[in-house]
Amino acid sequence: MSVLIFVETANGGIRKTSLEAIGYGAEVAKIYNTTTTALVLGTEVPQNELEKLGNYGANKVWQVADERLNHGVIQAYSQAIAQAAQADGATILIFAKSSLADAVASRVAIKLKAGLASNATELPTIDGNTLKVKRSVYTGKAFEIIAIHSENKIITIKKNAYSPTPTQTLAKVEQFTATLSDSDFSVKLKEVQKVTGEVLLPEADIVVAGGRGLKGPENWGIILDLAKTLGAATGCSKPVSDLNWRPHHEHVGQTGIKVSPNLYIAVGISGAIQHLAGVSSSKCIVVINKDADAPFFKAADYGIVGDAFEVLPKLTKAFAQAMN
Ligand SMILES: Cc1cc2nc3c(=O)[nH]c(=O)nc-3n(C[C@H](O)[C@H](O)[C@H](O)COP(=O)(O)OP(=O)(O)OC[C@H]3O[C@@H](n4cnc5c(N)ncnc54)[C@H](O)[C@@H]3O)c2cc1C
Repeated sequence: MSVLIFVETANGGIRKTSLEAIGYGAEVAKIYNTTTTALVLGTEVPQNELEKLGNYGANKVWQVADERLNHGVIQAYSQAIAQAAQADGATILIFAKSSLADAVASRVAIKLKAGLASNATELPTIDGNTLKVKRSVYTGKAFEIIAIHSENKIITIKKNAYSPTPTQTLAKVEQFTATLSDSDFSVKLKEVQKVTGEVLLPEADIVVAGGRGLKGPENWGIILDLAKTLGAATGCSKPVSDLNWRPHHEHVGQTGIKVSPNLYIAVGISGAIQHLAGVSSSKCIVVINKDADAPFFKAADYGIVGDAFEVLPKLTKAFAQAMN
């Protein structure tokens, strides 16, 4: 048996969450005293970048170098991953949770008759042939422990569930040929309209987000200045995008984008549960609010009670000086 990790690519690179999945998969492989195979679909990531997946715990990398797989085609991805798992003798498959992974992992589970645990927050534990997985449910408000009894097992992991420590170990890259038919490509990508010139919110390491406390769109300069100084993406609460103060693709929360940066700075946002649902897997949350009783402070690692219009320019200046 082996552990197969599906590696998701974006913009010609490897997604950060997939590096976490490889590290997680390597730990699972240690538990079973076996090896890991990282599976990359498509041709967009250069060979030298694929080798580096060894740094995160991949013993070998399989690439399906088929240009038709350069974009996430759900049926074709499911076929290729299921075939690779069977060819590699993998009985455990790891995915980093994403909208693509959710769609693909469930289809692979049907093909391999595998039990599926999604949104895992910790490494699993073994109990005989059973794998016990702790998963986040109810948009992060509770945890569930589930047991997978089937021979083939699939786990999708929540962002930031595991932080691998990179080593200096390059992996061997091998080609794997998947048998794919035209019917696997019944949906074709016609056009990608990218948001350009900004750090993309779902991928960002740092996010500076503003809420209704900013009073109006004309005041967003202080958010943009701080974000620019930190190389951060900008986000906002739902009312802010509903009021058209900021574009809808910046709306963070239960009904918007879910983010998991290393640092989330929330300015003038009250911390309603629907907003927290989108930020709860951030590593460090800093809240700036003039109301000391704002609910967001309960979820914060650090808090500044103060007026955003006074605090932010000082913070931006201090960061700019510290970074020079
Ligand atoms: C079904 C449903 C889904 C929802 N989904 C989402 C979602 O995905 N994302 C989301 O964000 N919301 C969502 N909401 C809305 C959510 O319930 C809150 O209403 C919303 O998050 C509040 O936005 P806010 O914090 O920007 O505004 P407010 O609640 O008005 O809070 C403004 C905050 O700014 C502070 N403030 C005011 N002036 C200053 C100042 N000068 N300096 C510093 N602080 C100041 C205030 O003390 C206050 O805490 C949803 C609601 C529902 C019912």
